[in-house]
Amino acid sequence: MTTYFGAIADDFTGATDLAGLLARSGVEVSLRIGVPDHPPVETSPLEIIALKCRTSPVDEAVSETQAALDWLRKAGARRFFWKYCSTFDSTPRGNIGPVAEALMQALGTDQTIYCPAFPENGRSIFMGNLFVGDLPLAESPMKDHPLTPMRDSNLMRLLEPQVTLPVGLANRHVVAKGANALRERLAALKAEGVAHVVVDAVADEDLSIIADAFQDLPLLTGGSAVAMPLPRLWLEKGLVQHRNDDGAHRFEDGPSIVLSGSCSAMTNRQVAAFLEDADRPRFKLDPLDLAEYGATAALDWLSHQDLGRTPILYATAAPDAVRKAQTTLGADRAGALVEAALAVCAVRARDLGVRRFVVAGGETSGAVTRSLDVTRLDIGSEIAPGVPWCFARSGHCDIALTLKSGNFGSADFFAKALKVLDA
Ligand code: ADP
Repeated sequence: MTTYFGAIADDFTGATDLAGLLARSGVEVSLRIGVPDHPPVETSPLEIIALKCRTSPVDEAVSETQAALDWLRKAGARRFFWKYCSTFDSTPRGNIGPVAEALMQALGTDQTIYCPAFPENGRSIFMGNLFVGDLPLAESPMKDHPLTPMRDSNLMRLLEPQVTLPVGLANRHVVAKGANALRERLAALKAEGVAHVVVDAVADEDLSIIADAFQDLPLLTGGSAVAMPLPRLWLEKGLVQHRNDDGAHRFEDGPSIVLSGSCSAMTNRQVAAFLEDADRPRFKLDPLDLAEYGATAALDWLSHQDLGRTPILYATAAPDAVRKAQTTLGADRAGALVEAALAVCAVRARDLGVRRFVVAGGETSGAVTRSLDVTRLDIGSEIAPGVPWCFARSGHCDIALTLKSGNFGSADFFAKALKVLDA
């Protein structure tokens, strides 16, 4: 099918989050991991390319997104979206602004919007200031992020040093007046030479108005939520079509496995809930053991399990245990050891016949999909907001995967995921 919408996401689980929200429309969505090394064939109406460029040097981020844009244009895309985190994760140099400006230039457009709001997940924007739940961004836990500490809550001030052209605001009062008023505001700002417009949104209705107003702009930028209403608008106009199948069962029969490398508070609860079943086959990966003995013990264990009982392999641990491993091995090495172990276990599981993979952790998901040689994911039913089942080809098998970033999902996520697939 011809592609209408092409999105570029600056990280992997952000891309799956966007994919899940777009798929709610019933239009087929495909997610590519990195820019495909082949020309577009069998593309979907809604295509997303997941990059890993949130904190890469600006030049690299610009050239990677440019390559992604070229591929999406070849696929036929007419509308483009630059997806970043709903907490506007960036440094004073970028990469949100520089990439947006480069995409605008490539697309020959002189204005775009910035709307990272995601009301369903507590991200709202008022007078250009971003809130995380009740807190301004700069007072939220994001102020201490190791790579992108957010020390200002004002999106205009954050954006200004990242771009060369003027920045402006379309505030909530304008949004509340509706799509026409919002378009007029952008036209007035354009007459003043404003290229980058932050748009307020505190509720889903605001996002619907914003999507309605700007569905025909060549380039939009923001979090996943502002893109969510777009496919429905395009369906009404016949620009995209519903998928023909239900998208839920394109994988081979076979057992399931849970692989968890996230140590977030929510994943700790999810693992604990899954382990409540006393019959559950379980293997806890310890980075210190992995450093000394490698992943052989985990692989041997896996080969001797009754796969019908959905085994779980997990490195998920409480903060003090994580700190201990990091102090001994260094955070990077501890993380890399766990990721590599879960990645080889995923391949072994597939070779043993496993066809459904529940994976927890953003980096972990990247490592597992790489080792399974997955380059394209077709998006199926949503398990929790922003976490869909995905279907992929891996080593001549059709498998189902769900890739959950740290804090997504509720405590019963793993069991729920398996139930959704059986439904
Ligand atoms: P999240 O989505 O919660 O951030 P990620 O998979 O992105 O999860 O990141 C978790 C990181 O922590 C991974 O690099 C993983 O390998 C690492 N890790 C997992 N378990 C441990 C542990 N017990 N000790 C140290 N690091 C760990």
